[in-house]
Amino acid sequence: MSNKLGVVFVVIFSALAILLAQVFTIAPPTPDVVNPLLTVKLKSLSRNDSLPLQISGRWQLIDSKTDEVLIERDNFQGDLVCDITGPKLGPYAANRDKVYLHCDGEDALRLDYFSYPGELIIEAERNKLNQYHQLNLYLRLRLEDYVLGVICGELPSQTPDIGAALEAQSIAARTYAIFRIQQGKRLRADSRDQVYIGSDQNTWQAKDAVHATRGLVLSEDGVILPSYFHSNCGGGTANSFEADFSKTKLSALAGSTDPQCGDVYQRWQHTVPVARLDKLSAEFNLGDTLQALNTVSKDIFQRRLVMRLQGENGHHDLSGEHVRIRLGLPSMIWHGLIINRDGSITITGSGNGHGIGFCQEGAMRQAKQGLDYAAILQHYYPGVEVEALTANLFNQ
Ligand SMILES: [Zn+2]
Repeated sequence: MSNKLGVVFVVIFSALAILLAQVFTIAPPTPDVVNPLLTVKLKSLSRNDSLPLQISGRWQLIDSKTDEVLIERDNFQGDLVCDITGPKLGPYAANRDKVYLHCDGEDALRLDYFSYPGELIIEAERNKLNQYHQLNLYLRLRLEDYVLGVICGELPSQTPDIGAALEAQSIAARTYAIFRIQQGKRLRADSRDQVYIGSDQNTWQAKDAVHATRGLVLSEDGVILPSYFHSNCGGGTANSFEADFSKTKLSALAGSTDPQCGDVYQRWQHTVPVARLDKLSAEFNLGDTLQALNTVSKDIFQRRLVMRLQGENGHHDLSGEHVRIRLGLPSMIWHGLIINRDGSITITGSGNGHGIGFCQEGAMRQAKQGLDYAAILQHYYPGVEVEALTANLFNQ
């Protein structure tokens, strides 16, 4: 009896020892995920213009150079203006070129009717006469808070069953922010970078997605991926190298198919007035009239990659994306072009946006079909690695 008990104890202790050995030797160390501070440009404010500003709780106006607290008060309601003395909050003049507005409470800052986390950076700009003529307003906040505001600005986060798309978008948005920081750029709060709308529209769905993917970013060959994304690819995403978005070829941005985005019923029609076409000709010194707009190269989805502008004084080749921005077109996937009697052109096309990388509408469709975030990301960024944002990766 006692021998049997002894055997049982030996077996239990051996099992425990093996388990402990596995825990201590096999489990990888948890990487130190960083949540860096970043700066987002919100807007500029011209001399004599004003923005409504509201602060709840304790706030301080701090000199950016010396960290000296210039003003400290409770609550504020009034206007932020660019005064002859520089930034001025209601009756409080900063008398400095650059100040930080620090608010103690969470989302205590409300500027131009939007609530924000973090700290407002107010930078006064001088003109040639050395007079203050503009305030540039930036928000300094944590990466994860920023990603939450981007998800709510970029996707309809309350749509049922798109949790995996919100997670994939969180990872793409977080990665894009780091990519721009590594390029030495300040992020802009609109679609030129990523739409950031503060914290008023935060939903629990978006919070869940950001939390579930906290610190995760995308990389290729150990380097942060330029994780471009867009609204609708129009049938397939573009090759970033061919579309002149990347200087080098990236496997994860080589393009992928997405036939449902190219459905005939989703096509758009857009008329470009003559004045806008002629402006393009004049911009490149080709004369006052644009005589022709020809396709030099296109991809298999009919996306115009390079276009040739023909004017009286010659021709100029321009990337499709530049043409899209200048002519105000939804996308460069064209299915038809008609020249109207007045010289304007009417284009039929599909898609919305530059078409590089992650397609938001396609991602939401895939999420509804039951794909997880990893599968969605692999579809739009083939071969990409999902990894934790460590200090090493961030500081590259
Ligand atoms: Zn698509």
